[in-house]
Amino acid sequence: MFYRQSGMRSLPIDDGSPGFTPEQKAKNLKEVRVVTETSVETAEATGLGEIDRSGSRVSVDDKAMINCRADVNQLLPLKYQWAWEKYLAGCNNHWMPTEVSMQADIALWKSPDGLTDDERHALKRNLGFFATSESLVANNIVLAVYRHLTNPECRQYLLRQAFEEAVHTHTFEYICESLGLDEGELFNMYREVPSITDKAAWALKYTQNLEDPNFKTGTPASDQAFLRDLVAFYVVFEGMWFYTGFAQILSLGRRNKMVGVAEQYQYILRDESIHLNFGIDAINQIKIENPHLWSEKFQSEISTMLAEGCELEVAYGRDTMPRGLLGLNAELCEQYMHFITNRRCAQLGLGPVFGLTENPFAWMSEMMDLKKEKNFFETRVIEYQTGGSLAWD
Ligand code: MN
Ligand code: FE
Repeated sequence: MFYRQSGMRSLPIDDGSPGFTPEQKAKNLKEVRVVTETSVETAEATGLGEIDRSGSRVSVDDKAMINCRADVNQLLPLKYQWAWEKYLAGCNNHWMPTEVSMQADIALWKSPDGLTDDERHALKRNLGFFATSESLVANNIVLAVYRHLTNPECRQYLLRQAFEEAVHTHTFEYICESLGLDEGELFNMYREVPSITDKAAWALKYTQNLEDPNFKTGTPASDQAFLRDLVAFYVVFEGMWFYTGFAQILSLGRRNKMVGVAEQYQYILRDESIHLNFGIDAINQIKIENPHLWSEKFQSEISTMLAEGCELEVAYGRDTMPRGLLGLNAELCEQYMHFITNRRCAQLGLGPVFGLTENPFAWMSEMMDLKKEKNFFETRVIEYQTGGSLAWD
């Protein structure tokens, strides 16, 4: 008889030895379920536990976002259509950074009068922020979120998202190489530029909590810790911080500067808007299934998190654009961040944290308009399918 270390205590495993009569098996199983419920729960939640040979078929009603008891290795029957649709949308958006020509950008970057010093400074800070942020987001999905999100269609989306984050990191490698930027300066910026370090450190607190091998969902406190991590990464990191980054680059692109980088950012923006919406849907679904977690106190904590995220972004904006650029400055970015923060609050069912603010970058919301986005993507898909055939021979 083997004993498997499963969390807090050893469980007897059926290795086919004579000691395991059907009666004893049933008794063991019952004991296991009663006595070491948390251990079994953990094994079932990850999908890495022993195969339950007598397990019954999965019913949709048994599926749940967190702390699920249904087998997480079975995609069907689907419960959350919204998660599956986001997986399909992500796959349909496939792109690679190397498909975008960087010729115009290289010429502009190398020409002494191509960009002002302020534009170069803002561009480098922006690239430096994104270069490692994509890795931080990817780590959070793979090392923290995946394990505790106990739904196979959501996991299917996380796997797609993880690949997209790799494509995004690839984008910054490609831009760095194309423009001949100092890779150490770019990729080490999150440890050298305080306004970038502050943002990364703020988000890391939440993922470090979950990555702890002893962390388990299943209590109100740990389930709330999981929700905080989703808010920190999906809503603040990807849903707020990335958006000012997009505004900076797309504003340059609108003035016909760094058009290759701007095109890459449009593709990233399209991916990120799905990441954000997946996160919002996931949080709201967990709220529906676990209303006790969404207490008044917790709601005000989440509002505070969003306000903190906004504050960090405003500081980063000042640091990145100390004198402002044509059509873009730290004050406008601050106003935009207030607008975005209120919007994210509304998406989570929370009241606004700032006074009513107009969107100073109306052209950004136009770029994110769903119908336009769809057309943009449809064109892209056709191009991709005709231009991206595989040649193995
Ligand atoms: Mn990304
Ligand atoms: Fe993302």
